[in-house]
Amino acid sequence: MRKLEKGRLVVATHNKGKLREIDDLIGPFGFETQSAGELGLSEPDETGTTFEENAAIKALAAAKATGLPALSDDSGLVVDMLGGAPGVYTANWAELPDGTRDFLHGMRKVEDALQDKGAVSPDQRRARFVSVICIAWPDGHTDFYRGEVEGGIVWPPRGDKGFGYDPLFRPDGYDRTFGEMQAEEKHGWKPGMAQALSHRARAFRLFARDALGIE
Ligand code: IMP
Repeated sequence: MRKLEKGRLVVATHNKGKLREIDDLIGPFGFETQSAGELGLSEPDETGTTFEENAAIKALAAAKATGLPALSDDSGLVVDMLGGAPGVYTANWAELPDGTRDFLHGMRKVEDALQDKGAVSPDQRRARFVSVICIAWPDGHTDFYRGEVEGGIVWPPRGDKGFGYDPLFRPDGYDRTFGEMQAEEKHGWKPGMAQALSHRARAFRLFARDALGIE
């Protein structure tokens, strides 16, 4: 793993909900961050079939365009009974025919697919959120950090906090969905803590340890 020196860092995402969480999680480390959106970078096509491939596509595109190290997150919801779907296509499942995204539509699609399988009991509704963070350098070097959180799919969706599919997912050990949690509770982690809750915070904990040398 290459160490990342403090300084300018591009956050390679155009997703506002994700950007807010990444800003929260990386804030304490004192980087000078700018998002791909703020820098006017175009969004590359996510043509990969794994979270790692898509994370690399996004981080490398931003690092090469700016000459700076870049951090991306590729993430999604993986549902066991659906053979791992929507997985890397989680954002696509929320797309309407006009190309805009509606996450209630995406959540309903997951529920409909589960109903088609007759998945009603909690053990048939197991799922996990996955986040893969990639740090890419302009010379093409990449490092990856993966976080996962196990839980269940609830219906109807609950809560209006967070973003994306948060109201559909209840992490193990909690009664509330991510949509019913404040950001700090969903992350469940700050630098120095040995445990984290969300998939993204778990990936960041590994990033902090291995790329920044902060336990
Ligand atoms: P991508 O990484 O840009 O391909 O998009 C991943 C999609 O997964 C996002 O658009 C969200 O809908 C969903 N997703 C990823 N992480 C989270 C999360 O923490 N909460 C809710 N939805 C998420």
